[in-house]
Amino acid sequence: MGAPPNHNRPCGICGQRTRLLLDGLFDDRFGAPGAYAILQCTNCGLEQTWPRPAASELKELYERFYNAGISPDSAYRGLRERFFSSGLYRLWLQWDGDMGFHGRQGAGRLLDVGCNEGRGLSLYADNGFQVEGLEMNESAAALARQRGFRVHTAPLGQFSPQEPFDVVVLANVLEHAWDPVQMLTEVRPLLRPQGEVWISCPNAASLWRRVFGRAWVNWHAPFHLWHFSPKTLQKLLDLANYRIITINTFSPALWVTQSICLKLSGKAGGRNRLIRCAPLIALMTLTIKLFYPPFFHNINRQMAGDCLIIVAKANK
Ligand SMILES: [Zn+2]
Repeated sequence: MGAPPNHNRPCGICGQRTRLLLDGLFDDRFGAPGAYAILQCTNCGLEQTWPRPAASELKELYERFYNAGISPDSAYRGLRERFFSSGLYRLWLQWDGDMGFHGRQGAGRLLDVGCNEGRGLSLYADNGFQVEGLEMNESAAALARQRGFRVHTAPLGQFSPQEPFDVVVLANVLEHAWDPVQMLTEVRPLLRPQGEVWISCPNAASLWRRVFGRAWVNWHAPFHLWHFSPKTLQKLLDLANYRIITINTFSPALWVTQSICLKLSGKAGGRNRLIRCAPLIALMTLTIKLFYPPFFHNINRQMAGDCLIIVAKANK
């Protein structure tokens, strides 16, 4: 399946010309229709999914496909919930890495943007934070409120909290944003003067992306609209007037497992069933982690791990 030609698709950061990097991508996670490509800016290197669905289309795609058909009592979800609420999960975070900032102890006010059903809110609260969530999906927000949390459903730009936050968490959120610079700009007034934004997202400069090609789990078309590298995310933060405090990468064993499954069983145009088979995924993830060769840690240190972790502060 060929991707449509990419004339006149400017870069989302600098507005310069883009070139076609990869085509023939499809939604292998949820089975939404359509073929997608990845375009790269010829100037700044930012990568984007193309065609980028219109905001109204995206809303419909999320409602129809995102996690749809995975019933709340499915074996996959049941196992996942039990794991996340167990002490085993905290051990796993220390061993494998922490893309959701779920292991960080601290104090002060924390806002989780895109808090979903509030699983992260429970963990942040256990770690010492006073937590609130922001979630556009009303039914997910309702579930988080049932867990006892304060969850807002206002769009980020219209949200005005009673007090600013010490931490705003954007865990695997920015790559979904229609306009990531705008999202970061809208976060700024929510922060206290020394407040931090904690960002995690897939790393487009990851070694795994080169190893797995089209089967890399983090293309996640059409839901991931942007694919950031350390370099392009730095540019984005500059534009929104933040400075980076720390930047790291790591390679979650789950993501490597999912990419292997997509590589083994990927068929154009369909939802992949292998990555929904919870016992298989759990076993593979554990096995991969056990046999992680030590040189993989060097890859992470060279900023070529699969997940980017950034702590940033707003400039005055
Ligand atoms: Zn650019």
